[in-house]
Amino acid sequence: MTVSTEQAVALLTAAQQATRYAYAPYSHFPVGAALLCADGTIISGVNVENVSFGLTLCAERSAMVQAISIGHRAFQAIAVWASQRPQGSITPCGACRQFLAEFFTPDCPVIFAHAETGAVQSQTIAALLPEAFGPGVDLGGNSPDKGSSTPGG
Ligand SMILES: [Zn+2]
Repeated sequence: MTVSTEQAVALLTAAQQATRYAYAPYSHFPVGAALLCADGTIISGVNVENVSFGLTLCAERSAMVQAISIGHRAFQAIAVWASQRPQGSITPCGACRQFLAEFFTPDCPVIFAHAETGAVQSQTIAALLPEAFGPGVDLGGNSPDKGSSTPGG
């Protein structure tokens, strides 16, 4: 799966614009994400920190949870943006890579900006999470059903 350069730039711009809503009073490191759904809808997310740091939710997972909560299950790409890029380009953390792999096809691009130049870059989720423990793993016949929801669940 690929996205055009124009789509990648639009997603990065949406991710950048989302950072204004980040809740990052502890790290002062606002992050935005923009998720391109299969139907073309763009859903943004931001990092939401908590005084109990372990409860902090990253921008990528925030966007995914919002999208899934309104019925999206298939995605084309995600962009992540942080205005502060102190060391290298900002890419999803390990937890977010695993979370994305649940719903992304292996060739789904993760888009980000180069730390120094701001140039658009991308990597597939397969490259960011090689040998992934994904939904295709045989769990003894218990495969995920992404297409339905359990009433009250
Ligand atoms: Zn993360």
